[in-house]
Amino acid sequence: MVFSKFIGGWLNGRCSGAMKTLESEILPGSQWKTFRIRLIGMLRMIHSLWMRQYPDFIYRKNAGKDFPVFTFHHIQTTRFRTQLDFIRLNGYETVQTDVLLSNPESADGARTRRVMLTFDDGTEDLYRIAFPILREFDMKAVAFISPFWIDQTGLVSWNQIQEMHESGVIDFQSHSYSHQMIEVGPKIVDFYNPGLTHLHRWDLPFFQDVKESGILNTMSFGTPIRPFTSGMGDQRVLLKELDFDVSFRSEVQSHGGKTFFRQSGWSRQLQSITKKTTKIIQYESEAEQNDRIRSELEKSKTEIEARLPGKEVIAFAYPNHIQGRITSRLLSEIGYSLVFGGIQSDIGLNDPNRSYKYFKRVNADFIHCLTGNQSQGIFSVMRHKFIQKQ
Ligand SMILES: [Zn+2]
Repeated sequence: MVFSKFIGGWLNGRCSGAMKTLESEILPGSQWKTFRIRLIGMLRMIHSLWMRQYPDFIYRKNAGKDFPVFTFHHIQTTRFRTQLDFIRLNGYETVQTDVLLSNPESADGARTRRVMLTFDDGTEDLYRIAFPILREFDMKAVAFISPFWIDQTGLVSWNQIQEMHESGVIDFQSHSYSHQMIEVGPKIVDFYNPGLTHLHRWDLPFFQDVKESGILNTMSFGTPIRPFTSGMGDQRVLLKELDFDVSFRSEVQSHGGKTFFRQSGWSRQLQSITKKTTKIIQYESEAEQNDRIRSELEKSKTEIEARLPGKEVIAFAYPNHIQGRITSRLLSEIGYSLVFGGIQSDIGLNDPNRSYKYFKRVNADFIHCLTGNQSQGIFSVMRHKFIQKQ
């Protein structure tokens, strides 16, 4: 147990919990770095399994007593069909958030075999792949969206959301207003460059500034990237001197823009600017942090409800599964009754003193661990996750 605690502490210190920063996992790096991230991911998973952090059904304990919630990333047609086939074959019903709110008793899957399928961000796959297949299977799902990004390239449009909402197939709920990624430390870890353009813009820290200031994305090459994490966690925003960041972009612009990155020493050239400029390190105040989080939670709920008449937004899913105590408190104040997060909860589960309920979500790969025909063991799923897929 002591060993396990040590490992847990080490893993948590590195890559999980509210203090987690994401840049080391999101930004690409050497093969060694990729291997290390996979290894830490696998160790973290084994540790979580060992510590019984996964829902009961994974352990084949209290068969059917808990309420499994699955989350999908990169929807792949064949795999998705296989997963839905498994759910149908074993007689599971796919439910939406209203069921949990109106009749919490029904979350007890022992009698009903109920599961929830969830999708985050509202990527175009939701409309193009998931929606028609769900309809074909006569199943339902929940999508957690961030209104700020809707209608942008790679994401669904409000028209598509309206169509999916009206069909009853997808229940749209909140994933915060802007999926805000905040910089939380002064050290520059990278610069936005053409090698990063494949990354989701909502998973990077500065695109909100870019969109709000009306500057085109292509002009942001050279923008420094500092350690970042989800704005819904407990860490405070580093207040930047905007002029400081602009000087890096100007350097890139005046040296050919995109072509600047073809020269091998571009990183050193940009790093050298850091040395010439002094900067003051400041963070947002507690009051500012509170207002920022409140606005993310309120605006998201208000906008989805305004766009979808008759809709009530009652559920929230933490971006990147990173939770925060302030967010947790504000969620119930603002009127969210159901909260969805990852398996590691610093905040605790189903606290009877709290008016909302917390649900752990696990990757859709675990669908095959549900009890039923053709059910698979946890190790078979792990093998798929870490050896075959990645
Ligand atoms: Zn997300």
